[in-house]
Amino acid sequence: MLRLSVESRSVAQFIDITPLVRQAVEGSGTSAAACIVFSPHTTAGITINEHADPAVAEDMIEALHQLVPNEHRWRHLEGNTPAHVRASLLGTSVTVPIEEGELALGTWQGIFFCEFDGPRTRQVWIRFLR
Ligand code: ZN
Repeated sequence: MLRLSVESRSVAQFIDITPLVRQAVEGSGTSAAACIVFSPHTTAGITINEHADPAVAEDMIEALHQLVPNEHRWRHLEGNTPAHVRASLLGTSVTVPIEEGELALGTWQGIFFCEFDGPRTRQVWIRFLR
């Protein structure tokens, strides 16, 4: 399994990790059929969406903040319940097909690491499926 490091720089941030994942997959010389891109965290998720226009990621962060407001009587004493809920709404992994050693993504698709409780040093794990 590959373990990559990602640095988030703000509380909520979608980091386009497509180049990082592409380099890891294509540099490995793998013959795998797909890979799982996984976040081993409870306040950060992984999603695939448009990365041609950065405004899409900004709008998604805003939508998640409207769906899960900071202002609420949350029970979790650590005080970061909204980050936990936002992470679960997106999920912790995506599965991406690999064709002849290359990531197979749609024209407008990018893979995002979705930080909801940053800034922090995070990990992304990549596991090949054969
Ligand atoms: Zn917590």
